[in-house]
Amino acid sequence: MREFDLIARYFSWNDDFNKSLAQGIALGVGDDAAVLDVPAGSQLVTSIDTLISGVHFPKNTAAHAIGHKALAVNLSDLAAMGATPAWFTLALTLPEINTDWLDGFNQGLKTLAQQHRIALVGGDTTQGPLSISIQAMGFVDKGKAMLRSGAKAGDRLYVTGSLGDAAAGLQAHLDNLELPEADRQYCRKRLDYPQARLAESRVIKDYAGSCIDVSDGLLQDLTHILQASGRSGVKLGAKLDSCKLPLSAALKRLDQNLARQFALSGGDDYELLFSIPQEKEAQFLEAMARRELVGVSCIGEITDCESLMSEDTANYIVDENNTPLKPAGYNHFHEQ
Ligand code: ADP
Ligand code: MG
Repeated sequence: MREFDLIARYFSWNDDFNKSLAQGIALGVGDDAAVLDVPAGSQLVTSIDTLISGVHFPKNTAAHAIGHKALAVNLSDLAAMGATPAWFTLALTLPEINTDWLDGFNQGLKTLAQQHRIALVGGDTTQGPLSISIQAMGFVDKGKAMLRSGAKAGDRLYVTGSLGDAAAGLQAHLDNLELPEADRQYCRKRLDYPQARLAESRVIKDYAGSCIDVSDGLLQDLTHILQASGRSGVKLGAKLDSCKLPLSAALKRLDQNLARQFALSGGDDYELLFSIPQEKEAQFLEAMARRELVGVSCIGEITDCESLMSEDTANYIVDENNTPLKPAGYNHFHEQ
């Protein structure tokens, strides 16, 4: 199969299908570039993420899961911005043309695209070590994107779903962690099939002051919010209640110190971390409860650094006993 046949067979999703997913495709796959109409009154939100085999997913990951994850991590960025997905492009580097692999990959991609109504409008196909870049595009009403920079002292910190499952799944895969078989499967699924929290984002965006998706670990990503939201003279910190970290049943069965480390520092969760001003909290929780959505947990609050009496005037995160919490790296898990 040649490159053009491959594009025609797998990645030229037919026009009707694409149109059922998204509006505004004046021209999709087939020319030198796509031509897209952005609705009046909206802003285009765009994000790109690359997945490299052995770095962003274990080498034995199923093609179907890779197709899912490559799109899911980008949808998660759109969710974090409060954007509605519309279109994506796909740059695929393949070591060889393997039709079984391509069938699985395309199915994983297409199923998720259908679920979140995002159309494939172009891309690039090359030969080399397996790598997948997806650029996702979506809309927000003008001026309404959720940013990292809107957190204030006193805001309540919330997170969707549960934390640390994907990190546990990865450590189990690397043979650094023993899990009961059902828990191992559950955690591996959380690693391979992250769920972009788009439905949740549609509610959160009307209440949150700031938002980020948790891809590098809670503490790391919280630091991004604190840094982006601080100004000169206003250094922000956070106080977390470690008993409130949302843990799945599988993580509750682990040693609790280890589970806490996974929840605080593990990557690949793709949950949303966001701040809610106190005066909007009750309304926010009511709005969430009216819909069938994944649960949200209040894990602490944003503070000003002075109130934590920290020597370090940079961003500062402490637990309920005022003990500093520092992002732990990978190595920590190897030493367990
Ligand atoms: P060019 O050489 O002009 O860049 P290509 O041959 O790379 O064009 O691509 C031809 C058409 O196929 C373009 O519309 C491009 O967007 C699309 N395309 C190429 N690879 C992919 C892919 N992996 N997924 C979706 N569309 C693709
Ligand atoms: Mg061209």
